Amino acid sequence: MGKRSRKSKGFFLIYLILLLIIGTSTWFGYNYNKETINNKNEVIKLSKEIQDIDKEIKEKDSDIKKLDKDISYYQNIDQTLKETKNNFYKEIKILEDNILSGKSNRKIAYLTFDDGPYYNTYKVLDILDKYNVKATFFTTNTNGENCFDKKEENCWVLYKEYIKRGHTIANHTYTHGIRRGLYKSKDSFIDAVIKQEELVKKLTDGYVTNIVRFPGGSSTAGKLKTPIIEELRKRNYGWVDWTAQDGDGGKLSSKEQAMSNFKNSINGKIEVILFHDYNGYTTTLLPEFINYLKNNGYEMYPLFYESNMINK
Ligand SMILES: [Zn+2]
Repeated sequence: MGKRSRKSKGFFLIYLILLLIIGTSTWFGYNYNKETINNKNEVIKLSKEIQDIDKEIKEKDSDIKKLDKDISYYQNIDQTLKETKNNFYKEIKILEDNILSGKSNRKIAYLTFDDGPYYNTYKVLDILDKYNVKATFFTTNTNGENCFDKKEENCWVLYKEYIKRGHTIANHTYTHGIRRGLYKSKDSFIDAVIKQEELVKKLTDGYVTNIVRFPGGSSTAGKLKTPIIEELRKRNYGWVDWTAQDGDGGKLSSKEQAMSNFKNSINGKIEVILFHDYNGYTTTLLPEFINYLKNNGYEMYPLFYESNMINK
C-alpha cells in the first residue's frame, strides 16, 4: 500500500467517523425532537383534560351547592309552614281587633263542625274545598258505628286529611260521654281531653290541638265549669262555645227549618257557627250557608288559639 492510499484510507476513516457522528446525532436529534413533540402533545392533552376535570368539578360544586340549598329548604319547610300559618293568624287577630273596636266594617264567620270524623266528613271537606273555605273540626274518638264500614281506622285517616286541606283540628274530648261520666268530675273531663289530644297527636304525627269545646256546650258542665276552665288554662288550652247554628244538634224536621234557624242566628260582626258533620241537612245546605255568609260580607277562616273568640 502506497503512502497516498494510506492517507486516503485515513481520510476515508475520518469521513466515516464524521458521517457516523452526524448520522447518530441527527438520529438522536430527530428522536429527541420527536419525543419533545410527543411530550408537548401529551402536555397539551393532559392540560386540556385537567381543564375539563376542573370544569366538571366546578359544575359538580355548583350542583352540590344547589342540592345543599334544596336540602336546607326541605329541612326548614315545616318551620316555614308554621311561620306562614302563624303570620296568617296574626293578620286575622289584627282584623278581629279592628272589627271589635269599630275600626273595620269587615265581618268574620268561623265555621265549626263537631263530633267527627264521620262517614259524612268527606262530603263536608269536598264542599269546603270547592268554595275555598277553611274551617275548624272539633274531633272526638268516633265509635266505629259512625264510620264508613263501622271501623275506626276509616275515620282515623281523616285526621291527616283535615291538616292537608288546611283546616284546624280542635278537641271535643275522646268520649263525648255527656251521659257516660264525662262530667262526673273535673278529672274525668280533663282525662277525656288529654286522651283526645294524644289520639290527634298519634294520628297526625304530632299536630297540637289547643282549643276545646265542651260536649253539649260549657253550661253542660254545671258547677264543674269553673274548675275545668281553670285546669284547661293551666294546660294552655282555650275553649269556645258558639254564637250561631242551624240547630242540627237537636231535632230538625226540614231543610227550611235548618235554613231559617241559621239565618236568624247570624247577626254579629264575628260569628262562631256550630254544625255537626254527621247531619244530612247541614251537608245538603252547606253550599247555601256559605253563599249566604259571602253575600252578607262574611269572610271565613279556621279558628286559632289567639283568636278573641277563644276563651282563655
Ligand atoms: Zn258534640
